[in-house]
Amino acid sequence: LIFLGLESSCDDTAAAIVTGDRRILSSVVSSQADLHEDFGGVVPEIAARAHAERLDLAAEQALSQAGVALRDLSSVAVTAGPGLIGGVMAGVMCAKGIAAGAGLPLVGVNHLAGHALTPRLTDGVAFPYLMLLVSGGHCQFLRVDGPEDFSRLGGTIDDAPGEAFDKLAKLLALPQPGGPAVEAEALRGDPDRFDLPRPLLDRPGCELSFSGLKTAALRLRDRLIAEQGGLRQTDRSDLCAAFQTAVADILAEKSRRALAASPVPLLAVAGGVAANRVIRAALERVTGDRGVRFLAPPLPLCTDNGAMIAWAGIERFRLGRRDGMDLAARPRWPLDERAAPMLGSGR
Ligand code: ATP
Ligand code: FE
Repeated sequence: LIFLGLESSCDDTAAAIVTGDRRILSSVVSSQADLHEDFGGVVPEIAARAHAERLDLAAEQALSQAGVALRDLSSVAVTAGPGLIGGVMAGVMCAKGIAAGAGLPLVGVNHLAGHALTPRLTDGVAFPYLMLLVSGGHCQFLRVDGPEDFSRLGGTIDDAPGEAFDKLAKLLALPQPGGPAVEAEALRGDPDRFDLPRPLLDRPGCELSFSGLKTAALRLRDRLIAEQGGLRQTDRSDLCAAFQTAVADILAEKSRRALAASPVPLLAVAGGVAANRVIRAALERVTGDRGVRFLAPPLPLCTDNGAMIAWAGIERFRLGRRDGMDLAARPRWPLDERAAPMLGSGR
């Protein structure tokens, strides 16, 4: 099998060629970060337009870098949701055009399934396993039992951790994206000087919360400014270190509970926050204690990319799934449809 995978659900336009025996022949990611920089967040209309302009080129580059012709492809896989609807529609339309033009079947993929199935692409792991998805937009524990069999064990009830890192960076006038900036600043900091809360740790289950942590950091900053007339370098570093340690503690404790509730041989992570070394180390301690394997795919495959979409398409294709020209773009598409409310908000 040879698949073209297209991804355009947020601010990365991505295309990749992946084979059924897990080889990534090419993976092209075109970031729109520069387009949204001045707005302090992704602007959906700008994103949709940029995707529409860039998808064809990304697909062409993926094919040429892989040395693969359209006629060599088995199918085109595309993110059909969840995400910013204009971008998802641009991707679905591009995929339909390629599929119709080349006479190929189409496979619609859930973006979150792409992240959740990545450990099978990178390491060929067997079901079942647990996936902790931690990014700027998501935070959830998924038990993965099959290519279409996901159970959500819990997730954030407010902010995603990446979003919290980004907001902390903003509070402290550090550059965006906040995660890497906070991690670098924290290296010089003392994580014990400030005592930040660990919301929801006193309650059972795998739900998480990060907004209280952010508010506590804001109050601390304002108190320091009021007391000292400004922030010193050490205040920034200590605050970053305390914040990062608190996030790591929360994720570690909830991972311990997720593994206790659902004992599986492997815990995998995906999402940009999985790049954080302190968080990784905390998760490794939790899995090490329980004799569970810990897996963090290479960073370019942890963040949004086309290879994970191609691979999730391959997994669905093998189950006999095909989509037609009526494939719809879905702004919301919970992975665990059994657990999803009929009418709900959020992703
Ligand atoms: P999604 O694709 O889930 O909708 P997204 O596009 O924001 O969300 P990613 O690209 O996976 O997600 O991750 C970006 C987020 O990861 C940002 O919020 C960024 O601050 C955070 N991040 C990146 N590196 C680090 C790090 N070293 N430590 C903590 N957070 C990090
Ligand atoms: Fe993503």
